[in-house]
Amino acid sequence: MSEKNFRNDFAVFRNTDYVYLDTAATAQRPDAVINAGKRFYEEMNANPLRGLYELSMAATDAYENARAAVKEFIGADSEKEIMFTRNTSESLNLVAYSYGLSNLKPGDEIVSTIMEHHSNMLPWQMVAEKTGARLVYLVPDKEGIFSKEEIETKINERTKLVCIAHVSNVLGCVNPVKEIADRAHGFGAKVVVDGAQSTPHMKVDVKELGADFFAFSGHKLMGPFGIGVLYGKKELLEAMPPFMRGGEMIESVSLDGAKWAELPHKFEAGTVNAAGAYELAEAIKYLQNVGFDHVREVEDRLTKIIFEEAENYPYMHIFGSKDPLKHNGIVTFTIDDVHPHDISSILDESHICIRAGHHCAEPLMKHIGASSTARASLYFYNNEEDVRFFMKKLKEVRRYMGFAE
Ligand code: PMP
Repeated sequence: MSEKNFRNDFAVFRNTDYVYLDTAATAQRPDAVINAGKRFYEEMNANPLRGLYELSMAATDAYENARAAVKEFIGADSEKEIMFTRNTSESLNLVAYSYGLSNLKPGDEIVSTIMEHHSNMLPWQMVAEKTGARLVYLVPDKEGIFSKEEIETKINERTKLVCIAHVSNVLGCVNPVKEIADRAHGFGAKVVVDGAQSTPHMKVDVKELGADFFAFSGHKLMGPFGIGVLYGKKELLEAMPPFMRGGEMIESVSLDGAKWAELPHKFEAGTVNAAGAYELAEAIKYLQNVGFDHVREVEDRLTKIIFEEAENYPYMHIFGSKDPLKHNGIVTFTIDDVHPHDISSILDESHICIRAGHHCAEPLMKHIGASSTARASLYFYNNEEDVRFFMKKLKEVRRYMGFAE
């Protein structure tokens, strides 16, 4: 059991008594990331990719070095396969608008799952509507497991695209992406992976996973808001039309049209978020120093404590696997007779931050039989004190609302 104290690296934990249990929504940022932003604006700030003077070149270097760091981080072959976007949602929309609209037709099928975050569902609904392709959903059991039969009947010769979350933001389960990708590739389909909830918590290797496209957000792995990543296989990206058009994504322009820039710039119209990319690279460096083994060890240990204590709370219902080690630090639950919004508001009085609502996954909520749930999500900067305090205060929630404990 290691208690490396990374908490001191975070001003929010040094200066406040917040018990932050909402990392699945957005992570806290360490000093290293916040300072990187200051450093960029003080020492490298000019319009990147344009200027021919030293300061602009410093901005360009910061941006392109960040791309190289992301490439290494997720095991891509080339920087050309890494595009910066605003977030996971934009990355997935890029694939939907650019790849989806130009490659799907009536009779084709897009396979997704009912477990998806709306960000990995609504873009495919749009593609289906506009192209006449059919959307087919894999349905898991209540713990988030897809049967072999479900996978084998629904992924077939009609499948052109499979769009799946690596880790569910509600159940915390890891989906069998590689197995699904192998089957999809057997039929010549492409695989889009939503890595928003996996990338901050486990070593991702896009090639091992079999992802043709892989999306994630900087803000969930301690980077800044407003920067996300799309990985795509080079040969697919090369054949795709731009998603957005504007400055910096062209090689030449005439009054009749344009020749697009080389990858990855073809997909990065307008002035890019160089500071955000620079801060994201700092977050990756910080996370690598913490180490995924440590992240896992803390998340598992603390999730186990929540599960053990929950055994004494007959009115608390945790969704997903019965095994705390299959939750990736995500504990979604309800308390009998108390609305999740009330749970969150009551805990807030003790400075405990949790999420309540449908978690942008309404179809999954319906499937697990809840219109709304509460969710506590952990990271390596949480400690035993956090989860014991959370469970202690949770015990008081029903009493607060006038019910017996
Ligand atoms: N997919 C999953 C699984 C998520 O958890 C989230 C964020 N809650 C998203 C996609 C969307 O991420 P963003 O809001 O950063 O675009």
